[in-house]
Amino acid sequence: MLADKDRIFTNLYGFQDWRLSGARARGDWDNTRALMADGPDAIIDVVKASGLRGRGGAGFPTGMKWGFMPKEPKEGRPNFLVINADESEPGSCKDREIIRHDPHKLIEGALIAGFAMRARAAYIYIRGEYVRESETLFAAVAEAYAAGLLGKNAAGSGYQFDLFVHRGSGAYICGEETAMLESLEGKPGKPRLKPPFPAGAGLYGCPTTVNNVESIAVVPTILRRGAAWFAAIGRPKNEGTKLFQISGHVNKPCVVEEAMSIPFRQLIDEHAGGIRGGWDNLLAVIPGGSSVPLVPAEQIIDAPMDFDTLRDLKSGLGTAAIIVMDKSTDVVRAIARLSYFYKHESCGQCTPCREGTGWMWRVMERLRTGEADLSEIDLLEDVSKQIEGHTICALGDAAAWPVQGLIRHYRPELERRILARKAAEAEPLPVAAE
Ligand code: SF4
Repeated sequence: MLADKDRIFTNLYGFQDWRLSGARARGDWDNTRALMADGPDAIIDVVKASGLRGRGGAGFPTGMKWGFMPKEPKEGRPNFLVINADESEPGSCKDREIIRHDPHKLIEGALIAGFAMRARAAYIYIRGEYVRESETLFAAVAEAYAAGLLGKNAAGSGYQFDLFVHRGSGAYICGEETAMLESLEGKPGKPRLKPPFPAGAGLYGCPTTVNNVESIAVVPTILRRGAAWFAAIGRPKNEGTKLFQISGHVNKPCVVEEAMSIPFRQLIDEHAGGIRGGWDNLLAVIPGGSSVPLVPAEQIIDAPMDFDTLRDLKSGLGTAAIIVMDKSTDVVRAIARLSYFYKHESCGQCTPCREGTGWMWRVMERLRTGEADLSEIDLLEDVSKQIEGHTICALGDAAAWPVQGLIRHYRPELERRILARKAAEAEPLPVAAE
């Protein structure tokens, strides 16, 4: 279990003041200038040495990503940092806790990360539905400007840095980095074809890095406590602390900061009060938000919760949004509902996604009710593979993977429903008494 002294987010539950005075009492903004004194490259080296991997789902090494940015921005083409606070993945609810209870960790992190990438400014793109969170964030940014922590000579560092908060309108696809850039530019949030990647041509055609809220908010603490401290938590290549979001059929759903690689059973017992009805009642878990395949109980119970283990289980850590399903769950209906979500959120630019997500949802509905034919299971799997990897952005994959996971692990249940329905339809109707 992560020791209290190793927690980064010490006000995760909002028991203390989120404002600047409260944040300063917790150690935020403590001599930030000194953290920047060794220059941008030194910061990138520390982040690389810490092993921090992006907390937004993909798990790409953060320091390496920062290193892709031009070291000498050209005149008229400034570097930008964009912070992804869109958090629309079903099951994900961690960034909102950072924003409403510890916003200054994010703002200080934005300054340091922006400085490391020679960014002139950062934009926080926050999900439209996060109304209260936006209010807190706007107020915290205003406090930081008033205290001289942002703007000209930010935090006394001699560096000029501006931070803008932009509210989205509530579209899942705007969490995709290039769709987010389009939306920031005032256009419909439709993903761009890559390459060029944002580090080459991002916001307004300028070099841009898009990072998740949690990835940025942990940076000041990593710099203060050292890369070795962060890297000593978790397993190799899966280092550090992580915010886990536990929802579904547990006794006490929660968001909790824990060590990466904590075993699933320990995580649930120590923080979520165990599985509803006991461990024998666990059916399956979606470990990383709705876009990753589910994992059956017997495979996940003793698994370390980290990027590499869950990839080996043919799923993913994603944002660590853990959706627990006990044996009362209609697992086919649950995945069918996710299929509907992805159909609804497709931006419609590419045919496999636009047509395929709707097609998969309709077949999933037929499988749910048992109306489908047995051969449609293989057909569905085949079509899902024609969507996966054949679209502009990862929404196609996100729609295909839950369906593939269902077929991989619950094919007998799909077949049982179809056969049961056929048997019921074949039974003669009872003859009414004269
Ligand atoms: Fe739009 Fe879907 Fe294509 Fe992504 S995969 S660009 S959401 S149509």
